[in-house]
Amino acid sequence: MSSDGAAEEVKSRLDIVEHISDYVQLKRSGANYKGLCPFHNEKTPSFMVHPAKQIFHCFGCNAGGDVFTFTMKHEGLSFPEALALLARRAGVELKPQSGYKKGERERLKAAVVEAMSFFQAELKRSKVAGEYINKRGLTPETVKEFSIGYVPQGWHNLLNHLKKKGFKEDVIIKAGLAVKGDRGPYDVFRARLIFPILDMHGEPVAFGGRVIDDGQPKYLNSPESTLFKKSDTLYALSHSREAMRKEGFAAVSEGYLDAIMCHQHGIVNVVAPLGTALTAGHLKKLLRHTEDIVLVFDGDSAGVAAARRSLNLIMDPVSYTHL
Ligand SMILES: [Zn+2]
Repeated sequence: MSSDGAAEEVKSRLDIVEHISDYVQLKRSGANYKGLCPFHNEKTPSFMVHPAKQIFHCFGCNAGGDVFTFTMKHEGLSFPEALALLARRAGVELKPQSGYKKGERERLKAAVVEAMSFFQAELKRSKVAGEYINKRGLTPETVKEFSIGYVPQGWHNLLNHLKKKGFKEDVIIKAGLAVKGDRGPYDVFRARLIFPILDMHGEPVAFGGRVIDDGQPKYLNSPESTLFKKSDTLYALSHSREAMRKEGFAAVSEGYLDAIMCHQHGIVNVVAPLGTALTAGHLKKLLRHTEDIVLVFDGDSAGVAAARRSLNLIMDPVSYTHL
């Protein structure tokens, strides 16, 4: 499909209201939808989305356009990058364009996606990881739903795999999958259970790794990258956002395993921050989907301290409404 044809196909399959709702809390206003503009600071909504015309317009800053314009502006992407992103979401297959070079973001993303499949395959092969999964009570359905994986002991398991698949060393490092060492790059994750961290659309951007023995640190996240900002990312958000809207509230647990266990038991509006406390960035993301947030932290001193920090933040709307 030519890029023009593909763009039309993508537009016909995606609804702009649904798409923008991922980023902006929209309220119905007559035949249209209204919300706070993501492109300028405002307290009274002047950002309008028109479902009939499939366009948006802001009366405050004059930003406007279709679903492509929105995505390019909001994510800082070029048109081909926005097309690639939205085509994936719409399930439209793009023909590789001659003369079109993949953007850096796409190259990093491809490396992360390949790493996720590698980790999943390693989990299937590992007896010790399988035993740990059973011990924690994770069902095969849960392992599949959250794309849980494993990486065995060793410094170059993933690195060698990705290089064999044609990924360049600098891409692997920039994607947060390996770090530079004195004797060359080596894997970030070694001998860990791997929890892919997805963006809100369900695409992997980073990983969390948990040791399955007494090793330290117990939890390790990918370093930050073009794809992954820790203070902005909530674990299991893509799994939870529909339920949050339906239930009318979001629950925030302390870690990814807590969130996963809640989902396994049918409580599917639960997310987890990737450190100990909520940040202003997290709150802003949650508030797009719901206005009520319930904190479910451990009763130990670390949990209480994290809950207290998160509460202080919630009680201070200035910190997150002016982002
Ligand atoms: Zn605006």
